[in-house]
Amino acid sequence: MTRVAYIAGAGRSGSTLLAMLLGALPGCVSIGELRHMWRRGIQLNQRCGCGEPFWDCPFWSAVGDRAFAGWDNAPHERMLDLQRQVDRYRQLPRLATMPVAAGVRRTVDEYAGNMGRVYRAVEEVAQSSTVIDSSKSPTFAVILQRVPGIDPVVLHLIRDSRAVAHSWSRRRSMPEVVEGQAYMATYGPARAAIDWARSNVAIEAAHLAGIDSTRLRYEALVRAAPQELARVRSALGLTDAQTALLAGPVVKVGLQHTVAGNPARFSGDHVRLRPDEEWKSAMSARDRRVVAGLTWPLLSAYGYRIGG
Ligand SMILES: [Zn+2]
Repeated sequence: MTRVAYIAGAGRSGSTLLAMLLGALPGCVSIGELRHMWRRGIQLNQRCGCGEPFWDCPFWSAVGDRAFAGWDNAPHERMLDLQRQVDRYRQLPRLATMPVAAGVRRTVDEYAGNMGRVYRAVEEVAQSSTVIDSSKSPTFAVILQRVPGIDPVVLHLIRDSRAVAHSWSRRRSMPEVVEGQAYMATYGPARAAIDWARSNVAIEAAHLAGIDSTRLRYEALVRAAPQELARVRSALGLTDAQTALLAGPVVKVGLQHTVAGNPARFSGDHVRLRPDEEWKSAMSARDRRVVAGLTWPLLSAYGYRIGG
């Protein structure tokens, strides 16, 4: 069985950072957001975290050879089609209801089967028993339960919605795009707040439907990563001594072959852990009120101070 540590959460919650930290540990390999490989890797040939375009990356070439006898033979258009059918928010209630209807089950199983081939190939190529996938999507956390041959561990990463909304407001370039200049999407405060609420509610709903997940807080992670990861240590097969390697302020993470994710994955082989509280001074009071107003029930349930 390949253990898959899946990071679920709202966009801009720090999933790339968490994945980089876990990927630095012995026996673990971080592959970025695997869900996006079919389009951003195979179809668009965007850069891997190692700096090479996907098709030129030796790691991903070896994975493609093992999984499908080469990416040329991989059913990427079919996978994009299946993704549009099942891997979407609106499918979540149908997927999380047991038993899943027969028609949906066949589609999900075909999609999940091909994802399973990739996870197993990654495990073999990296010779790591735990694969870290930071795809974030709550729907995929549910689909993951149907991937054959894997042992899924869902990590629910949460971060203050106001910090998340502030991050969405900043224009940032995408170093993974090989030709021309591209920028990450930006959202206004209301849209960012609604996205945050929708993602976190969906993960809580999946939890109620019997899909186990463990909550991790971004703010605690950057202050004391070994302590914050203590609750998931045994599920990930890690020891105290191993997670102690993640004590900051600077952690060596090495070269990671990540297929999609935040530009932070191109920032070198070390990460600096520090609280990012820029929103507290840079965000307008009005925007803070909008975000807090739209997210307060969950924000408060997660222990964040609304007046903060
Ligand atoms: Zn690479």
